[in-house]
Amino acid sequence: MYRLREAGHRACLVGGGVRDLLLGREPKDFDIATDALPEQVYALFRNCRLIGRRFRLAHVQFGREIIEVATFRACGDIGDEADGPTVERAKNGRILSDNVYGDIEDDAWRRDFTVNALYYDITNFAVLDYVGGMADLSNGLIRLIGDPIERYHEDPVRMLRAVRFAAKLGFQIDPATAAPLRQLGHLLEQIPPARLHDEILKLFMSGSAIQTFELLRHYRLFGWLFPETERCLNRQKHHYPKVLLVRALANTDQRLTEGKPVHPAFLFAALLWEPFQERLQQLEVEALDESEAQQDAAEMVIQAQVRHAALPRRHSLPMREIWEMQQRLTCRTGKRPFRLLSHPRFRAAYDFLVLRAEADESAQELADWWTRFLAADESGRGRMTQPTAQAKKSKSRRRRKPRSARGGTQTVPPVPET
Ligand code: ATP
Ligand code: MG
Repeated sequence: MYRLREAGHRACLVGGGVRDLLLGREPKDFDIATDALPEQVYALFRNCRLIGRRFRLAHVQFGREIIEVATFRACGDIGDEADGPTVERAKNGRILSDNVYGDIEDDAWRRDFTVNALYYDITNFAVLDYVGGMADLSNGLIRLIGDPIERYHEDPVRMLRAVRFAAKLGFQIDPATAAPLRQLGHLLEQIPPARLHDEILKLFMSGSAIQTFELLRHYRLFGWLFPETERCLNRQKHHYPKVLLVRALANTDQRLTEGKPVHPAFLFAALLWEPFQERLQQLEVEALDESEAQQDAAEMVIQAQVRHAALPRRHSLPMREIWEMQQRLTCRTGKRPFRLLSHPRFRAAYDFLVLRAEADESAQELADWWTRFLAADESGRGRMTQPTAQAKKSKSRRRRKPRSARGGTQTVPPVPET
């Protein structure tokens, strides 16, 4: 901001940086709004990249942080092409490109929520509020600027952002802002899958995944992100799928609070586990070999999902491994359990098994066995993996009924203790 000012420009902190600081929270990142054009910002910073076509802005890198620097924008619908560029819209009002520049007040009106349109000005250390953001901030309200239906049509991702901020900040969504949500979820179908994928990660990996999930379902938005999962949730037996998912989300929130890493693959494994189980069951009815059925089921679930939101291979591959390991973890005799320990996905697969056990008692005995195995010393592990008479019996029973060995549904009886 100071460098921009020295070069004769105006620059303010805006968005989440101001909002979170005023709430006493640590901002996730910093956004700057300026009257300098992207090319002028580029000329001032060596560590700068210009990005985006739909919304052109400058990324300035400071160490590991990236500061987003956006030029003040106007709504741009006034005048015609001869006056300069206008905002490019699809027939239904969706904004295709938004690169019409204006002054700071114009800029405030085209932001999404009032609490996101507060500017911190370094010339007088004041917070500038053109849209009533300070009042909404103290009343804990997420309120769209302007007409909600029109603003959701302009950019349907704003529906997901409303939910995300409400969950993250513990705010209420203002009734007029919330009212159209249940009807407009279908607009998310127009969003490019890659952008939806980014939004999904923000929704579930910002530390308030449970509240976010509950709000997304409440406003009927979840089904537009994960249609197959939504279908399973609506048919849930004894709340089983929901329990697994909620536990996984709680686990994610907990890890993030403790500063531990969370791999998106684990999250997707939980989000899509129930559709995977359902496909697997169908394929087994068709008498496919077990590992073939697993691969086909995983492929079908991924193919169905990527029609709605992208799921890059760097996430889908480890997700599949976590699923496939669930079956392999049922092998408890001989060398196999030792070999599994060195599998790169072992820890995530074991954590996933424990999660399943919390939600479904038929996986409990197997999860307990692995917990004991991990805690045991070498000789203890050796004893645990001896093929006892009972284990042999259960193994042959497993072979006859592969479904029961996996313990994937409520109706499956637990595998006897080895
Ligand atoms: P956080 O970074 O904590 O997720 P944020 O409010 O900073 O929250 P960003 O995505 O970083 O969110 O966007 C920065 C600012 O840009 C927002 O606060 C808002 O003013 C504006 N903005 C972002 N996305 C939109 C959008 N889809 N429509 C209108 N304004 C937006
Ligand atoms: Mg931000």
